[in-house]
Amino acid sequence: MIKKQFNIEQYHPETLSVRAGSDATELGENSEALFLNSSFRFQSAAQAAARFGGTEPGNIYSRFTNPTVTVFQDKLAALEGAEQCVATSSGMSAILACVMGLCSAGDHVVASRSIFGTSVQLFGNILKRWGLEVTFVSLTNPDEWQAAATTKTKLFFVETPSNPLTEVCDIKVLADIAHKAGAYLVVDNCFCTPAIQKPLALGADIIIHSATKYIDGQGRCLGGAVLGSKVLMEPVYGFLRTAGVTMSAFNAWVFLKGLETLYIRMEAHSRNALALATWLEAQPQVARVYYPGLASHPQHALAMQQQTNGGGIVSFEVKAKPGQTQQEAAWALIDATQLISITANLGDAKSTITHPATTTHSRVTAEARAASGISDGLIRIAVGLEHIEDLKADLAVLQR
Ligand SMILES: *Cc1c(COP(=O)(O)O)cnc(C)c1O
Repeated sequence: MIKKQFNIEQYHPETLSVRAGSDATELGENSEALFLNSSFRFQSAAQAAARFGGTEPGNIYSRFTNPTVTVFQDKLAALEGAEQCVATSSGMSAILACVMGLCSAGDHVVASRSIFGTSVQLFGNILKRWGLEVTFVSLTNPDEWQAAATTKTKLFFVETPSNPLTEVCDIKVLADIAHKAGAYLVVDNCFCTPAIQKPLALGADIIIHSATKYIDGQGRCLGGAVLGSKVLMEPVYGFLRTAGVTMSAFNAWVFLKGLETLYIRMEAHSRNALALATWLEAQPQVARVYYPGLASHPQHALAMQQQTNGGGIVSFEVKAKPGQTQQEAAWALIDATQLISITANLGDAKSTITHPATTTHSRVTAEARAASGISDGLIRIAVGLEHIEDLKADLAVLQR
């Protein structure tokens, strides 16, 4: 590799997103090379032994060392201000690697009730079978976190803003409660990315990413990442090396291209989302809009302090017309769209629309949905990069 002197402290985040991590090989390529190979040769038996023994740094085998994946890890670590990044095969495997690396049977995790549906399944069903104790509490009520923590608590786990209601928690306050209880605060930063929110700077210990979403930004690849201090990442990396929940080199190469445009994309997503949320609030067929960038959002002030903008996710409740159920009203709007994609994915340049109650949150019981405020009339839009007037026009039935 051709090593250029690159001092992270010297540059702005936008510059880091374009430049950090990217050293060229002897061939001098200006865009990161894709190392699509499983293993690496050694010059001698002694060098092989030194690499395996960890006394000489270098690549061994792509399950745990691949140059393209390494560049992705270094770039994302620079953006989040983390000592180390461990890239994984998906966002879910990032959460799994984090827990498997840092917890044992009998340990306790306190998690927000408002986390990604599959994360609820992972904690509440699968990890529970292996002896992990899990308590779900309200994202926005610190007293519940305080009350739930025990001497066995290892991790606090949150997403902020939450999906789909965009509730925001105070990262600093939860970090303090976690640390006093001898636990680490884990923040799934998928909705914001480091372009909008830097959880480690606010006191969190670990960051989770689904790179599948905004880090890719164009709906192509699955991937994830765990970030934190070297000490915390060592067992996480140890789990990945052994269990093989590895990010593919090809996907890392795609994510590297995604990261180069992260800052301008997140600004554009957020600008469009704020404009759409503001417009939605004024439509007669809309009962309520959930978006942290709106003054009407319950944690608007906190969100604007913790984030550089409101992000790209907007949720809202449609009003049912006479003789119509809430679900029928929501489905009718979704089916009336021509441009916006009907899909549960988010973080894509293409805007997407989904009905959480019957898709992402359909495995949650109706009572639990009601308790967390996810009504049958709720719709989530992950606002993409199309022209705002075309998005409004696609939702024009709300005006009638
Ligand atoms: C999508 C998502 C995940 C899971 O990521 P995958 O890459 O789909 O495994 C985890 N957390 C949040 C907030 C997500 O949106």
